[in-house]
Amino acid sequence: ITPKAMHRMEAPVLPNVENILAISSGKGGVGKSTVASNIAVSLAKQGKKVGLIDADIFGPSIPKMFGCEDARPVANVIDGREMIVPIEKYGVKLLSIGFFVNKNEATVWRGPMASNALKQLIKEGDWGALDYLLIDLPPGTSDIHLSLVQTVAVTGAVIVTTPQDVALADVVKGVNMFTSKSIDVPVIGLVENMAWFTPEELPENKYYIFGKDGGKNIAKELKIPFLGEIPIVQGIREGGDNGEPISNTENTPTSNAFHQVASSLI
Ligand code: ADP
Repeated sequence: ITPKAMHRMEAPVLPNVENILAISSGKGGVGKSTVASNIAVSLAKQGKKVGLIDADIFGPSIPKMFGCEDARPVANVIDGREMIVPIEKYGVKLLSIGFFVNKNEATVWRGPMASNALKQLIKEGDWGALDYLLIDLPPGTSDIHLSLVQTVAVTGAVIVTTPQDVALADVVKGVNMFTSKSIDVPVIGLVENMAWFTPEELPENKYYIFGKDGGKNIAKELKIPFLGEIPIVQGIREGGDNGEPISNTENTPTSNAFHQVASSLI
């Protein structure tokens, strides 16, 4: 039985959430969590009700990127059920496994435990009504992906990649996974991150450090929409390290680039 057929038979999980978007990448380190954070904040700034689940169970970085590493969500009893109240920051409701484990300890979990943790964040989170719930997945293809689609009806997947060939090879695998029979989630499109670099002293110059248009070309080849490109910008990295996604700042070229990607999802 396919996940879609299963969801049709059962009572819907998260009936008050309009869109559930999986943010995915073939490789780690391409900026998936950075893009997920910035898109989430952009959508919130555009007046949407937004949640973000950090499903990168083995390397949760959302708490740091949102400056709430020490937050500890409380439980709320709703209709006799204990629900976890998400942490709210920059207009985004957040849950991460990072809120429940010591940040300096490695999480040595077997696959099923990690899958259960994700299921809990989805089903026992007090999400309320949302326009968008973003799910920041672990890199690559894993049983977390499978358990996600078995838990909830995912609207679509957004793929994040950098433009070099070694990253693109894994994009193909990721897209094939989402469109496979056992996952069967439409790919909404691809975001090319770290597309170029412009030094401050040479503002007219674009250096394509990881190659030019790699993401755009693979999107065309795979016949999936191209959602936009984000350059390498020091402020993006600083925003991540300082706990305030750069898209929370008004009207800079970089925050506008993220707003544009976010708008393409609306
Ligand atoms: P992933 O989730 O794919 O593992 P991260 O989002 O954690 O990747 O990003 C890895 C590192 O690269 C982080 O330090 C982040 O701040 C930085 N980074 C991501 N995208 C950019 C960018 N466009 N410009 C500058 N730094 C970036």
